[in-house]
Amino acid sequence: MEPRSLAAYPFLKEAAEFVRAQGPSLTELLQDIAYSEARASGAERVRSALDKGNIPDPACRSDRDCLAELLGYLCARLVVSVAGNSSLIKRYALAEAKHAGRQLETEPLPTVLAIAEELGLPAAAKDGGATLHFTHYMRYSAQLRAAEWKLINRRVDSGQVELTKGELCRILEEFVKRRMEAELPLAVPDDVKEAFRDAAMELRLAADARMRHLEPKEMGKIRVECFPPCMKQLLAMAQAGENVPHSGRFAIVAFLHTLGATSDDIMKLFSTSPDFQEDKTRYQVEHITGVTSGTEYTPPGCDTMKTYSLCFKPDSLCKQEWLTHPLKYYKIKIRPPKGKGGKGPEGNGGEGKGPEGNGPGGKDTERGEPGSNGERPSGDGQGAGGDQVAGDEKGAGNGTDMGAGEGKGTDAEGSGKNGTATGTRNESPDGPAKEKASGAGPAPDAGEEE
Ligand code: SF4
Repeated sequence: MEPRSLAAYPFLKEAAEFVRAQGPSLTELLQDIAYSEARASGAERVRSALDKGNIPDPACRSDRDCLAELLGYLCARLVVSVAGNSSLIKRYALAEAKHAGRQLETEPLPTVLAIAEELGLPAAAKDGGATLHFTHYMRYSAQLRAAEWKLINRRVDSGQVELTKGELCRILEEFVKRRMEAELPLAVPDDVKEAFRDAAMELRLAADARMRHLEPKEMGKIRVECFPPCMKQLLAMAQAGENVPHSGRFAIVAFLHTLGATSDDIMKLFSTSPDFQEDKTRYQVEHITGVTSGTEYTPPGCDTMKTYSLCFKPDSLCKQEWLTHPLKYYKIKIRPPKGKGGKGPEGNGGEGKGPEGNGPGGKDTERGEPGSNGERPSGDGQGAGGDQVAGDEKGAGNGTDMGAGEGKGTDAEGSGKNGTATGTRNESPDGPAKEKASGAGPAPDAGEEE
């Protein structure tokens, strides 16, 4: 492979061999003034990944430039290893993978196949596209959310999944990301730690600051501190301008809408996303919130959230068997503490025991739903849709990027708008389930995970 190509794919074995043959020793790289630029470019590479989620494309006019690019990559791996910050490593791995994906898109199919083979992903050419054994396919497409990635929607012949060149590039991108996450941090000796101590410290502080910035912020009357971990994470990502997977967008939009956020409030959330397009986003938000579709979707239940890998860091409340829906989590969290007034959203009577112990009273003690008279929340089993996330198989129609599957009801939907259920005796804070989102939901063009 040409040095120029190696610079574009610095994670290939051949690139490491090139550096070994043409480059300096590790000691020279760490200490020699001649390589101070390479060391600085390694730190800069990580910084770019952290700040922009991006690695600049290599500008190789000569073999020397290509070697400099490869040394920068090597130093980036060292500095990120010295920093040892897991969120920095993830961010860096993602940026390197996206960088590789962009380069791969420009390559002819034989080159893409050769790179796949070098990485240990045996793909073969077929009809202008490629095939990949389903075991590899399943492994590396698992995080890709769009309906078309589901194996059931693929053409499979003798265990080989057929792919376009672009799809194979996307699989390779995922492969590179996972491999980097698995490899880093490297076990680095003391002289490497010493050489990159300052740069690593600076990057670690920047990564920590970024994580603090990701803390979700308040939204009017909605009490963000009562959100379940999944929604906190999605909200924080949206507020920080992170790329939120389409299934996650659907979930957070439906969740916020159910709590009473307006379309404009929700729009503002996404306005800092890297791929924000106002018209498209407004269309998607207004579709999910029912402004244009006439159907208000409620967020997916926990099972669906888990299926789509959106169940981030479940806490002890999440682990309760009866906690089946993010809205349930919120409703429980916004209740006043026990013994404070007794007129909370549970209503004020009854003897039944909800999950909190002295719950809503009445008959429905099975799950301890926060219904008032012990009746099941009105959406139970038939309410507004939403136990689907973007692009679940049932969706059909014209679709939005956020997707929205057909609703089939959950036992926790219904609104409790504004998150301030008043708890009158006969009214469940779950509220009446919204208009059903049954039947064919808007078709999900669910997009894919970052
Ligand atoms: S268990 Fe449910 S509420 Fe908790 S984080 Fe997971 S999806 Fe969210």
